[in-house]
Amino acid sequence: MSEVEDFRAEVRAFFDGVPSVMDAAAPPPEEGDDGPAIVLRAKAWRAALFDAGLAAFSYPVAFGGRDDRPDLAAVYQQESHGRVPPEDAVFGIGVGMALPVLRDHGTDELRARFLPPGLRGDEVWCQLYSEPNAGSDLASLATRAVRDGDEWVVTGQKVWTSGAHRADLAILLARTDPTLPKHRGITMLVLPMGQPGVTVRPLRQMTGVAEFNEVFMDEARVPADWVIGDVNDGWRMATALLAHERVATGTASVGGSRDEQRKAGRNPLPAKQLIELARRAGRAGDPNVRQQLATAWTGERIMGWLGRRRAHPSIGKLWRTKQGRYAADVAAALQFPAGVAWEADDVTADYWQYHVVNCRGMSLGGGTDEIQRNTLGERALGLPKEPGGDGEVPYKDLLRNV
Ligand SMILES: Cc1cc2nc3c(=O)[nH]c(=O)nc-3n(C[C@H](O)[C@H](O)[C@H](O)COP(=O)(O)OP(=O)(O)OC[C@H]3O[C@@H](n4cnc5c(N)ncnc54)[C@H](O)[C@@H]3O)c2cc1C
Repeated sequence: MSEVEDFRAEVRAFFDGVPSVMDAAAPPPEEGDDGPAIVLRAKAWRAALFDAGLAAFSYPVAFGGRDDRPDLAAVYQQESHGRVPPEDAVFGIGVGMALPVLRDHGTDELRARFLPPGLRGDEVWCQLYSEPNAGSDLASLATRAVRDGDEWVVTGQKVWTSGAHRADLAILLARTDPTLPKHRGITMLVLPMGQPGVTVRPLRQMTGVAEFNEVFMDEARVPADWVIGDVNDGWRMATALLAHERVATGTASVGGSRDEQRKAGRNPLPAKQLIELARRAGRAGDPNVRQQLATAWTGERIMGWLGRRRAHPSIGKLWRTKQGRYAADVAAALQFPAGVAWEADDVTADYWQYHVVNCRGMSLGGGTDEIQRNTLGERALGLPKEPGGDGEVPYKDLLRNV
């Protein structure tokens, strides 16, 4: 056998062993459980993946990666499809967004410090971007970081921070020079979450699950050199990270959970499950229902193809959220009128109910649909920029809600 085929067999054998590695760390959690068992299982999976040399194909060899072997990366892609456990979502922000930015823009010291443990899943990350007065207009953020000797001292409030309750580290955007225009005085820092100056308060969503949080920083400390990119160049870093986020939210496949009913994440309901629901409801022969199922199935295929074509990330993200809403609306209509009385203690009904309410948030996280359209208009189509920008006005002189 060739080296590549040997490798294929190795990857298959690895995935065969994953369930027992995870079960040894913690028993499978109950549906909808977001507690410590998820993190233990996620860490066991990621550590096994890293130790098997399968976790870091796009990273330099010096940091535990394998960027020298694109042929093996392609085999891994094929063999891992649909076999990555859902618990891997714990690393969505670290592995999917923060680490690629560190790899591309961090100093050698930061790369050596954060890449290996991050890729191995020993450290979990969250993203401290949005604030009560800075969501779509992220550059208006008010959290400030002031240099004090060997440290930055950080004070402010973030909101909607996914996974902050279980994060060890955060990628933080803070204002470091209010005398500059708002896009220019921002710096990207790495904040250790487990310190007295950081308070995390969960926010319960309408799904009933508390996936995200408010985070308060009261003179929290960051080592002076834990800066990604240059001081006051954080906006460039922020947009680099957002591009990774939109790719991640736009291209993640439905495949992983196709046969599984899972109450988590930002996956549209799979068309296959809608077809099963239509059969169970005795409506699979109804021409209108068949039309809706065909539309859902087609939308799902388009989502996959957009990912493979590597279309502009905003296109993938927009399509995904549209598909999420459409699939949830079809599910709700299939259950009408009983759907409005879905009971929280009925596991199957609870699953559909979760997705009907969860899909709305997909249009917000990672930049709202409107913002994606603005981005496409301005950056892909070359249309004029939105009027009313704050131009060269120093941040400190802008009118703001306080
Ligand atoms: C599930 C979920 C997870 C999230 N996770 C994180 C996280 O981990 N870390 C983090 O930092 N943030 C996170 N967020 C926050 C998310 O990034 C923001 O909700 C988003 O950027 C929108 O900001 P906002 O909520 O302040 O809404 P606003 O910016 O106040 O927008 C309100 C409405 O106005 C529209 N609007 C605003 N500006 C314009 C414009 N210029 N043109 C046209 N329409 C406009 C918006 O589209 C929206 O409909 C998460 C959000 C969700 C829903």
